[in-house]
Amino acid sequence: MVGSFLGGFQGVLGQVAEEVGRTPGRGRVADYIPALAACDPRSFGMAVAELDGSVYGVGEWEVPFSTQSVTKVFTLALDLAREGDELWEHVGREPSGNPFNSLVQLEYEGGIPRNPFVNAGALVVTDRLQTRTGDASGTLLEFLRAESGNPELDFDTEIAASEASHGDRNAALAHFMASYGNIDNPVPLLLEQYFRQCSLKASCADLARATAFLARHGVRADGSRLLTKSRAKQINAVMLTCGTYDAAGEFAHRVGLPGKSGVGGGIIAVVPGRCSVCVWSPGLDEKGNSVAGVAALDRFTTLTGLSVF
Ligand code: GLU
Repeated sequence: MVGSFLGGFQGVLGQVAEEVGRTPGRGRVADYIPALAACDPRSFGMAVAELDGSVYGVGEWEVPFSTQSVTKVFTLALDLAREGDELWEHVGREPSGNPFNSLVQLEYEGGIPRNPFVNAGALVVTDRLQTRTGDASGTLLEFLRAESGNPELDFDTEIAASEASHGDRNAALAHFMASYGNIDNPVPLLLEQYFRQCSLKASCADLARATAFLARHGVRADGSRLLTKSRAKQINAVMLTCGTYDAAGEFAHRVGLPGKSGVGGGIIAVVPGRCSVCVWSPGLDEKGNSVAGVAALDRFTTLTGLSVF
């Protein structure tokens, strides 16, 4: 264990970056969203936020990237805070064992997605947040700006448009669930909200700070409470079991923390009661998780001894 992390995480982050930098092979960038295909798979940044808001970073930790499915954690928290347990009648909390955009399970499970982190489940959560707020993506943006302390956070209209023009699979998921009565809003409106949400650009520093409410057991940066301790636990649990596509078992085995990844190469992770972490490197493995990101979190928990186990 690296002793110096008790005085701050800078030393550990430097060591993690140095070790990961020596590892050959960075995976492949996502190319099904054309605007993501232009990223350099070797980019790398990592940040850790402590409960009091102190942030440590290494590499490209202040460079904004496409957050994609990482945002699913925040819409889940925002809807759960408003709706409570009724949400769980519309989306499950079991790992799917299927790719994130799979349609097959939905039919034999009656239009109820397995969990809030597969695309179908995230569409349900965004739909419900839209019903409750009238502006799901605006609610998300306001929350993330406040938690990150960065008023300049914003959506990337080019990426949102790129996703919309290649969004047949998500449209199919939404229409299919609507046919089961599990979507309230018109599908085109829902898709617009969902693609906007996915297009959010933020840096590792922004996301480490914005995730800290989960490390604080539901308490926001300003000291107010978004979630009860029990609901913060629920979100951390779903992140652990379902947050890294159909490689959540492997991620838990290597990293031992609740985490959520996105196809932009970002991963957020939570050490409850201690800190939150964000790592970004756009090269992905075949399941869709950042190769260097998982490796960095693996080294981080090994070097610090911080994990939930
Ligand atoms: N916007 C992406 C999609 O819906 C998100 C995928 C991801 O990051 O998992 O296809």
